[in-house]
Amino acid sequence: MDKPFLDKLRKIDPYVPGEQPQAADIIKLNANENPYPPAPGVQEVLRTFDASSLALYPDANGKRLKAALAERFDVRPPQVFLGNGSDDVLALAFQSFFCSDKPILYPDITYSFYPVWCDLFSIPYETVPLDENFCVNIRGYDKPNGGVVLPNPNAPTGCGLSLDALEDLLQHNADCVVIIDEAYVDFGAQSAVPLLDKYENLLVVQTMSKSRSLAGMRIGYALGSETLIATLEAVKNSYNSYTMDALALAAGEASVRDEDYFQQTCRRVIATRERSADALRALGFTVLPSLTNFLFVTHPRKQAADIFAFLRQEKIFIRYFKLPRIDNYLRITVGTDEQMDRLIAALKKFL
Ligand code: PMP
Repeated sequence: MDKPFLDKLRKIDPYVPGEQPQAADIIKLNANENPYPPAPGVQEVLRTFDASSLALYPDANGKRLKAALAERFDVRPPQVFLGNGSDDVLALAFQSFFCSDKPILYPDITYSFYPVWCDLFSIPYETVPLDENFCVNIRGYDKPNGGVVLPNPNAPTGCGLSLDALEDLLQHNADCVVIIDEAYVDFGAQSAVPLLDKYENLLVVQTMSKSRSLAGMRIGYALGSETLIATLEAVKNSYNSYTMDALALAAGEASVRDEDYFQQTCRRVIATRERSADALRALGFTVLPSLTNFLFVTHPRKQAADIFAFLRQEKIFIRYFKLPRIDNYLRITVGTDEQMDRLIAALKKFL
């Protein structure tokens, strides 16, 4: 039967997130989630939340969470934008700021959602090769462009730029919006937030999914000049005024208010990362220096795809990207010490 409507459907290659296997006995190191629970105050919010309040719409402006974030980062509340995970914030930022005929620039090996948004929103783009150490080469961004976006530290390679390098990048890209995606910044990298006062074209995007153990709650935010944030708000309010639900707003606020727990959890993940990196090196792996909650590794004598398949059989899930330049690398999320010990034991068995 002829079905002409099929020709009118949008055809697109979507982003593919890490698997979420449901079995209880697996070790899940494939989506850069935090192995520890969110701050105790979040649990308290969930326990005491009044379900009858859900009859009302949430605060479309997320005033209380914005106030908590503004205080935490020493900015003004109109410099804070909230979204349903940082993917939501980034997607809106692409639509809000990348409206030029010139291509936007981002690294050749990076967060694989960027090309998907470019495709979805018809944004021209060019990729800039990472250097031989898989780090961002800021000189590659010294050319006419319609905007710049990059993760710092980069994902999935884990390498971070210094504050000086970030400032250099901004000085050479004053005529466009520069988005720094700081999904992993809390695990030891330098944030671009201190540059917000000086650069009105800088947008810093962060998430509560990694360092605040709230991936399931979907909370992301952006910090920027009032001009950039007002533009994001206008685009969001032309699409969906209520991207943040009432529970997420309350849970996010409780998380931000517990700085001690946050710092302590980050330190634990960092300690396990360093210990695991040493153990992997002892097994012959090359481990890239990481400022994130994951390790990017390769083995000189074994195929990454084979290691990935073996670990999967052992019910240990990690991430393998069959992509140019990195198809012999594996990305391993830092779990608890016990989970990492089991990973190392399984790798010993394989080798
Ligand atoms: N940026 C980068 C670099 C990421 O790896 C991720 C996680 N997939 C995100 C943004 C989005 O995270 P979330 O939507 O959970 O905030």
